[in-house]
Amino acid sequence: MSKVALITGATRGIGKQIALTLAEQGYDIAVNYRTANEELEETKKEIENKNVKCIPVQGDVSNFEDTERFVKEIIEKYGKIDVLVNNAGITKDTLIMRMKKEDFTNVIDVNLTGTFNVTKNVIPYMMKARTGRIINISSVVGITGNAGQTNYSASKAGIIGFTKSLAKEVASRNILVNAVAPGFIETSMTDVLKEEVKEDIASKIPLRRMGKAEDVANLVKFLVSEDSSYITGQVINVDGGMLM
Ligand code: NAD
Repeated sequence: MSKVALITGATRGIGKQIALTLAEQGYDIAVNYRTANEELEETKKEIENKNVKCIPVQGDVSNFEDTERFVKEIIEKYGKIDVLVNNAGITKDTLIMRMKKEDFTNVIDVNLTGTFNVTKNVIPYMMKARTGRIINISSVVGITGNAGQTNYSASKAGIIGFTKSLAKEVASRNILVNAVAPGFIETSMTDVLKEEVKEDIASKIPLRRMGKAEDVANLVKFLVSEDSSYITGQVINVDGGMLM
């Protein structure tokens, strides 16, 4: 029986690449998305081309009832969830002087509460199965902070605390929980940056380039494999050496 991976916010960017990489490893995939669009259709096709099953599950991760419903849907169709990747995330960057309360709470609701909501609904099945892997996508700015991102970096720092606490709670059930902290990765999240800003960022990265979604997906592939079975509660950076 194939293993099953749920990836949130997986119709594009890093989430999509993680879904494709795990599909290549033979995982059946549940792609969570918020709004159906062409990206979703294309992602589903690309996953199915790897000869595994793909079910798209609609839901806003910041809405607890949505997450409860879509996790049940996956269990009804696949019977289990072996891997959960909490990837869905948003930014609403601005300096605190200009930041509206909703800019703060929306980012926390999706990035941090969303991670809790999905995990809370998945964990009973992993506890019962006495096995599971959870990978939470944090960010280097959750460690370093970043001007203009008080909301986003607070959410990503929160994910790190959540990851370590959960890792301690569920280790005895052989459930491993780790966080991945990407640096600057080329996706639509960073496409909004001006070219000169991107060049400036790249010049400060020891490897002198922005990362690719594949760089993050390859670490996730390792963290769900048997080769990482003694690693839990860690935050691993994928950042070209930006943060040392
Ligand atoms: P992206 O914007 O391309 O992808 C984010 C995905 O999350 C989208 O598919 C979006 O629809 C989905 N999403 C947003 N809100 C959602 C919600 N409420 N419910 C369900 N899905 C929702 O961005 P990305 O760069 O691929 O980012 C993926 C993750 O990686 C995010 O958590 C992001 O914070 C993190 N990250 C990205 C970078 C980077 O440089 N790109 C760096 C560090 C961390």
